[in-house]
Amino acid sequence: MNTNLYIYNTLVRKKVKFEAINPPFVGIYVCGPTVYGDSHLGHARPAITFDVLFRYLKYLAYKVRYVRNITDVGHLVNDADEGEDKIVRKAKLEKLEPMEVVQQYTNSYHRDMEQLNTLKPSIEPHASGHILEQIEMAEQIIDNGFAYQINGSVYFDVEKYSKTNEYGKLSGRVLEDLKTNTRSLDRQSEKKNPFDFALWKKAAPEHIMRWNSKWSEGFPGWHLECSVMGIKYLGKKFDIHGGGLDLLFPHHECEIAQSKAANGTDTVKYWMHNNLITIDGQKMSKSLGNFIVLNDVFTGNNKRLEQAYSPQTVRFFILQAHYRNPLDFSNKALKASEKGLMRLFNGIDTLNKLKTEKNSTVEINNIKEKCFAAINDDLNTPILISHLFDGIRMINSIHAGKEKINQKDKLELIKLYSDIVFDILGLKKTKQEKLTNNVSAELVNLILNTRLEAKKNRNFATADKIRNELNKLGFVIKDKKDGFEWEKK
Ligand code: ZN
Repeated sequence: MNTNLYIYNTLVRKKVKFEAINPPFVGIYVCGPTVYGDSHLGHARPAITFDVLFRYLKYLAYKVRYVRNITDVGHLVNDADEGEDKIVRKAKLEKLEPMEVVQQYTNSYHRDMEQLNTLKPSIEPHASGHILEQIEMAEQIIDNGFAYQINGSVYFDVEKYSKTNEYGKLSGRVLEDLKTNTRSLDRQSEKKNPFDFALWKKAAPEHIMRWNSKWSEGFPGWHLECSVMGIKYLGKKFDIHGGGLDLLFPHHECEIAQSKAANGTDTVKYWMHNNLITIDGQKMSKSLGNFIVLNDVFTGNNKRLEQAYSPQTVRFFILQAHYRNPLDFSNKALKASEKGLMRLFNGIDTLNKLKTEKNSTVEINNIKEKCFAAINDDLNTPILISHLFDGIRMINSIHAGKEKINQKDKLELIKLYSDIVFDILGLKKTKQEKLTNNVSAELVNLILNTRLEAKKNRNFATADKIRNELNKLGFVIKDKKDGFEWEKK
């Protein structure tokens, strides 16, 4: 199979041509959520980024196995192998079984992802369903001499591993720097070195989620699950591993080390990382209290939101930035995306209604080539979308009678927009979009005509009230000599 897709491989820090290890099969592993709370904007970005990759590879006729895990054990509150398990803490707080917490937030994650129109992964394994395999891999790593057991816990020996392997090759971190930087944090730890990480932790007496192993009753270290489940479902060598930039270190760096220490070979060919979402220029964090959960974005129920934004608006907003660039969430940006998406959908409606002529005066292939060049350039969706808008301008000029299109070109253009907008970018005209699109335009006209009547009857109080209320909903009304004009901000 020969495709022209180039992707940025974090491991080599450059764009490289994508070549599947075993075409037409492609294996993708993406780190999924730790399910201890409602999914927020930060979850939407990797889900949508890798959904577009999944969709595009399928469009290119690859047979893709997309694995995205659910972390339901072993992700501790702080990264230094200390503190409580995030799920256990939530379970205690809400007086629930840990698995009840897991089920509840897995359900809400699925609901949010469905709203965003992401395709379901081919396999969605849970860490808790792979405890045995995690114990086996830890044993293998001990047998190979890269991990040690102490007080019932097992730690990866980073220093030992570094003697024969390059620890830090993904993140670019240097072990010597890690040594100086982490020394000050070294409290009374049982680890040989502060940068060693847990493969197995002995459970404290109050720890609820625990399993038997030959070392202790305990639980696996968080990084281990992705090594285990990636290899189990995609093999010892697979194509793509993705996740958010926040997982690059230590999570993915540790994953590379574990897999190599266990099997002697590197597992992943291409590492891909999406950048993060900031809110009004600030990093999203619990301490800043600026987390916006997805469901609140969809309902508008958050003091930072001036209105509700539909799931498709959020999806379009995310696609309007390149996945490797930071993306700032603001009401202004979201409103612009809402408007842009409407313009795109309206343009597609106009395309479907275009009258055809015998000859075209427009060039279709040009747009097609530019669109695919953009997506092939490391999934450059913002450039792709700008080409789609160029096409919409052309469609509007045909509609206005300034240009002509023949039947063959029209059908080709319909197919291009359908393939790219709906199949590859995964945008969907939902009831909400249709409503805003058609019905609400009619409703606004109806209300404004009523206002016109009120003005004619010199009922200015009612006329002003209608205008003010519409202003509040984001409509700008301009009175004209013979009627009105309006637009949605
Ligand atoms: Zn992971």
